[in-house]
Order: sequence, then structure tokens, then C-alpha cells
Amino acid sequence: MSTDKIFFNRPHMTGKELYYIAEAKFGNMLAGDGPFTKRCHQWLEAYSGSEKVLLTHSCTAALEMCALMLDIQPGDEVILPSYTFVSTANAFVLRGAVPVFVDIRPDTLNLDERLIEAAITPRTKAIVPVHYAGVACEMDSIMAIARKHGLHVVEDAAQGVMSSYKGRALGSIGDLGAYSFHETKNVISGEGGALLVNAREQVLRAEVIREKGTDRSRFFRGEVDKYTWQEVGSSFLPGELIAAFLWAQLEEAQAITDNRLATWNAYHAALAGLERQGLLRRPIVPEHCQHNAHMYYVLLAPGIDRQAVLEALKRHEIYAVFHYVPLHSSPAGERYGRSQGSMEVTNYSSERLLRLPLWWGMPKAAQERVVQVLGDILARF
Ligand SMILES: *Cc1c(COP(=O)(O)O)cnc(C)c1O
Repeated sequence: MSTDKIFFNRPHMTGKELYYIAEAKFGNMLAGDGPFTKRCHQWLEAYSGSEKVLLTHSCTAALEMCALMLDIQPGDEVILPSYTFVSTANAFVLRGAVPVFVDIRPDTLNLDERLIEAAITPRTKAIVPVHYAGVACEMDSIMAIARKHGLHVVEDAAQGVMSSYKGRALGSIGDLGAYSFHETKNVISGEGGALLVNAREQVLRAEVIREKGTDRSRFFRGEVDKYTWQEVGSSFLPGELIAAFLWAQLEEAQAITDNRLATWNAYHAALAGLERQGLLRRPIVPEHCQHNAHMYYVLLAPGIDRQAVLEALKRHEIYAVFHYVPLHSSPAGERYGRSQGSMEVTNYSSERLLRLPLWWGMPKAAQERVVQVLGDILARF
């Protein structure tokens, strides 16, 4: 048996990153919103159908912009899953909001839309669905609930670049959306992200908030003769070197997705047997959701010691991981947030979920070894 290390993730370079960075450097365009940023904006707008897409230095930054865009005030409430990355909640807590945690669906592990209405109070301002593993939340239901109660919807589509819901790009359905280009995602720039603004009348304000609260973007377009401080903002834009790197990735975004999907599909077929034996459950992707193979996870059956499985995999040089520590049971989550209803599915998933190695160009043999070794380990339980 081969004992080559099988890493959990390997960032993929398309090959043109340094070429474009050199182009940006020698053009002396190092600050933000230069030619590469514009190319990325145009590509992302054409791809997503969103009114305006603005690069940010992270998805976290894009979510922080969302909280500013929605004028979130201290004491306002924001409904979101507990089973997510910290930034989904933290961006709103920065503005003094209370994250209200709701349980997730047992199938997709996405915010359970059937539990949202019970969490709504007169202080609720927004719903923040997180498209876990790049599989869409039930956006039709979520948008209907938001409209009925006059709430905003911010899509945390950090994991959802190149995924869609009923043919619509994730991030383009709610009022606002946020993408991540972090090294651990599919399309990357090291650190990086984007804000999607889906209503035309919100675009100028997003530009102001992103440019330190000034109308500098309008000044650059020649729409005003000087730029001034307009409202509260910050510096949310990346420099051109990041945008140049990202451009090399966006050009290959479909190829990256197709390559990952091939590995994802191979895992899915190969793990059907272990699911039939009741040892694990595979991911469930609804018919109307096109996903991007961001992640291949399994939920281990109750009684299987996940830590022992992780350690056994590691002895075979296979690096698998788990997540998330639910936000409602984290120190800051307890301090700043509250839970609405039971967190049963969240807690269960958090304890049973195992993420398998998946990256662009993962050799078939490596992927088959993961399945083989995992099967051998689970057979001992
Ligand atoms: C990765 C991730 C983020 C944060 O993205 P950054 O670009 O690292 O700030 C936020 N939410 C979710 C669901 C994520 O997976």
C-alpha cells in the first residue's frame, strides 16, 4: 500500500497567477480598484447576474459590509445557523446585534427554513442563510418569509462560488451576498472575498462603505469633482496583486469546479456501500441545487468514535478534519447570542461529521485509498 501523505487540502494554482501579478506590478497599479479588480468585478457580475459585485479582502469583510449596509444597530437581531463559521455571526455582533441561532436541516445541514418564523421578534432585522458545502439553502421559502416580515436576507455564500439554486447563482438571490476566496475554498486568492449587491439603488452606498466612507469611486468615474467623507465605512478593498492572482483563478473557475466535481462524484459512488451497511451517511444534494464540490463529508453512525477514526486515518497518512464547534455553545456565542429552539441537528452534526481530503487534481489512486482505508477502519466498529 502506498504511504504517500494525503493532505486534506492543497491550494490549486492555475499557472497564470505570477504572470498577472507581474503585469499589475509593472503597470504600477498596486492599490485597489485597478484593471484586474475591474476584470474580476465584470466576470463575477456576468457569472452571477448580480447588480454589482465588489471585491473585498475577505468574506468576513464582505459580511461586515453587509451589517453596515443594513444599518444594523445595537440590540437588533439576526437569524442564522449555529452550524457555521464564526464570521457569519461576528460581522453582526461587531455592530452590536444579537445573533439568534436556529437549528439546521438534517439532510443538507443548512439553516432549517421551517424554524425561522418562530425565531422572529420585533427586533429581527435580517436572515443570514449559509450555503453549507456549496449546497443551496431553500431560498424560495427564505425569501418568502423575509418578504412577509419585512426582513433583509444576506447570503453567506462563502462556500458557494459556482453553485446555484434553481439556476440562480448563490449570493445573487438575497438582498446581499458574500463570497470567499480564502485558500481553503475552491477559487482562491489567499485571503479574499466579494460582496454581491443585488439591488441597483444599494450600489453607490456599497461603494462608499467600501472606500472608507467616501465617494472616491464616483470621483474616479468623473461623476463628482472631489471626493469627501459621506458616511461610516472602512477600507474593505483588496490591492491589485490579490485581484491579479484572483483573475488567474476566475478564468479557470469552471475547470476547477468540474475537476472537483469528478472527485466528489467518485467519493459519492464509492461510499454508497458503507452507507448501505449503516456505517455512515453521505451528503444529500437536492435535485434543484447545483453544487460546486466544495467539500466531501460523511456523517459517521452513532457509536463510531470519530476521534479514533481521525487518528487511524492519520496513521495511514490520510488527513481528514471535522468542524464546526457550534456557535451557540462557543464562549462568544454564549455571551452575545441566543438560541431559538432545540439545537439537536446542529449538535449531532458537529459530533459526527468527518470531512475527507478533496482538492483540485487529487489522483484517483489517492481518492480510492481514502475510501479503502476508511472502509477498513469503520469495519472494526
Ligand atoms: C470561509 C467562510 C467564511 C469566511 O471567509 P473568509 O474569506 O476567510 O473571511 C465565512 N463563512 C463561511 C460559511 C465560510 O465557510
